[in-house]
Amino acid sequence: MSAMIIKGSEIAKQIREELKHEVEELKKKYNLIPGLATILVGEDMASKVYVGAKEKACRELGIYSERIDLQYDTTEAELLALVEKLNKDEKIHGILVQLPLPRHINKTNVLYAIDPKKDVDGFHPVNIGKLVLGDPEFLPCTSLGILELLIRSGIETEGAEVVVVGRSNIVGKPIANMLFQKKKGANATVTVCHTGTKNITSHTRRADILIVAAGKPKAITAAMVKEGVVVIDVGVNRLGSGLVGDVDFDSVKEKARAITPVPGGVGPMTIAMLMYNTIKAAKMAAGIKEKIKE
Ligand code: NAP
Repeated sequence: MSAMIIKGSEIAKQIREELKHEVEELKKKYNLIPGLATILVGEDMASKVYVGAKEKACRELGIYSERIDLQYDTTEAELLALVEKLNKDEKIHGILVQLPLPRHINKTNVLYAIDPKKDVDGFHPVNIGKLVLGDPEFLPCTSLGILELLIRSGIETEGAEVVVVGRSNIVGKPIANMLFQKKKGANATVTVCHTGTKNITSHTRRADILIVAAGKPKAITAAMVKEGVVVIDVGVNRLGSGLVGDVDFDSVKEKARAITPVPGGVGPMTIAMLMYNTIKAAKMAAGIKEKIKE
């Protein structure tokens, strides 16, 4: 079997088109322009690329974007004061603090300071709590992107055995929690693996849907999956001059029913979902109930 390639870049493009239309409607009907502030502290090259891509997506969609670049030696108090100011800024509906932050700044203090109603990354404990309780407001962008990829690729999660490799706060935990909810587009049986898992292959081989967010290049090999599995590879690892995922794509695609490539799989969906969350935040702030999509 050779797998269907789940082309995240194409699906993300389609979503961005839909969102662009939504932004036009919001301007026309409500004179509302969604606004996103992105804060970058320091000179991390990868972070600069990510922030640049987010700004570009805002421009394309007609979302107001404010980028704030701070020196590496910015203090935590200065950053918290900026977040507080943005919390009160009516033009800004979403606030994104690009991670990682310099070591002298406590990431938790900063993420917790963002107004949960402007937490478009979905990392605030209020939003994570709501997600776990099954009453979500802002879902973390990468996990929301994964759900959207599954839905738009026609992959049924109802009753599926889902195995998630990785338990980070930004990917593993949220996607696992989203997929076991008693809801349409979820209702799966979810197993979460990590470095404390004894025999990881015994779990990954049971998976109907395998989601890998371990940050280990090509860690999942063909021997670790069953025939007909659907594989979502979240990993982005620099190997030589290129990028590879956490899954050995070339061998695993021969056994899989469907698989995401790296690059061009989950990555573009993360930015599309950030735009989705920003528009949602703007609509919530304006009391607009009309739904884009749920
Ligand atoms: P992270 O915070 O480093 O967490 C990695 C998780 O994987 C941890 O829970 C770790 O277990 C587990 N793990 C590591 N090696 C393992 C192994 N050999 N077997 C089983 N579990 C293992 O990583 P993250 O932030 O979730 O990111 C994961 C990957 O996704 C990275 O490559 C990152 O660049 C990528 N990513 C991509 C996007 C995107 O938009 N495409 C977004 C976010 C992240 P322990 O908890 O036991 O340490």
